[in-house]
Amino acid sequence: DALISQIAAGEVVERPASVVRELLDNALDAAASHVQVRLMAGGTRLVSVQDDGFGIPPDDLPLAVRRHATSKIRSLHDLETVETMGFRGEALAAMASVAHLRIASRTADADSGQLLDAVTGELEPVAHAVGTTVEVQELFFSTPARRKFLKADVTEYAHCVEAVRRHALAHPGVEFAIWHGGKLQQQWRGLPAARQASIAVDAFANGTDTADTESAAHTAMNRRMADVLGAEFIEQSIAVHYQAGGIRIEGRTGIPTASRARADQQFCYVNGRFVRDKTIAHAVRSAYEDVLHGQRQPLYVLFVQIDPARVDVNVHPTKIEVRFRDGREVHSAVRHAIEHALAPSRA
Ligand code: ADP
Ligand code: MG
Repeated sequence: DALISQIAAGEVVERPASVVRELLDNALDAAASHVQVRLMAGGTRLVSVQDDGFGIPPDDLPLAVRRHATSKIRSLHDLETVETMGFRGEALAAMASVAHLRIASRTADADSGQLLDAVTGELEPVAHAVGTTVEVQELFFSTPARRKFLKADVTEYAHCVEAVRRHALAHPGVEFAIWHGGKLQQQWRGLPAARQASIAVDAFANGTDTADTESAAHTAMNRRMADVLGAEFIEQSIAVHYQAGGIRIEGRTGIPTASRARADQQFCYVNGRFVRDKTIAHAVRSAYEDVLHGQRQPLYVLFVQIDPARVDVNVHPTKIEVRFRDGREVHSAVRHAIEHALAPSRA
C-alpha cells in the first residue's frame, strides 16, 4: 500500500515545482487574496505556501491528506462542470507519502488554528490567522533514487518560480510573494481594487462582465503581465479579444523584437487553468505564419474560456493537458482571435 501510494505520488509530484503548483491551486480554490510561497534550497528542503483563504474545518483536516479525499466534487456529474483547479483529491496525499507534510489551518468561525502533522497523524492547536499554511519538507527523503533525479537547487528554484508565474498571471487580483532562503525574491501585489478585478476576471469566464468590469479586468490583467513578464512584454504585444461559438479568448500576443526564440513567454489557460496544448499552440503559429521568420516564437498569454462540458480536464494527473470535445473549433477560434488582433496592422 505504501508502495502503491508512492507510485501514484510520482505522477503528481515530480519535483518541488509540482508541489508549488498543487499548493497554489489549493490556495486559489480556497479564494485566497494573499499567497506567500517560501522555499529553501530550491524547494527541495522546504516548500511552504501560506494563504488567507477560507481554511479547513478542524474535523476535515485529517481527511485532507487521505487519498481521493476532495471537498470539491461529489459526483461524476460535478467532474463535467468542475470549476476548481483541484478535484482529484490526490495532491496532499501524494506529498504526504514522499515528504514530511504539515498543515496548519483555521476557518473564520474557529477560535484557533489546528496543526496536523501528516507523519505522526497528531493534531494540536496552533496560532494561525484565517487561512492555511502547508509545509512540505525534505521532498523524496525516503526515496533516494527519486531524490537523485532532482537537478541543482537553482534549476529547481527556477521551476518553482515558473509555477508561481503561471498562477500569478491568471489571478491579477491576488498578491503573490516568493521567498527563497528567507529572502523576499518577488512580490506581485494584487490591484488595489483587487477583489473587484478578480471578480471581473471571473466575469470574463461567465460572460457576465459589463463594460466597466471588463475594463477593470483588462487593467488588472495588463498590470500583472507587466509585473510578471516585464514592461517589454506589453510593448511587444497587442490585445486579443474574441468571442464566437461559445468560446471566448482574452489576452495579449506579439512577436519579440529580438530574434531569439523564447518559448518561456507562451502562456495558455483554459478556464483559468494553465495548460500545454498543441492545438492552441499550433493555431497561434498558423495565424502568425507569414510574419514569423525562422525560429522566432510568438509570445502570448491567452485565456481561453469555454463551456467546461466541452473540455476534459481529467486527462493527466498533473492536469496540465486537456482534451477538447472538438479540437477543430478551438483551433479555428484561437486562429481567428489572433488574426483579428493582427488585422489592423496588416491593413
Ligand atoms: P483536491 O484539490 O483535488 O481536492 P488536494 O489533495 O489538493 O485535493 O486537497 C485535498 C482537500 O484539502 C481539498 O479538497 C480541500 O478540501 C482541502 N484543502 C487543501 N488545501 C487547502 C487550502 N489551502 N485551503 C482550504 N482547503 C484546502
Ligand atoms: Mg488540490
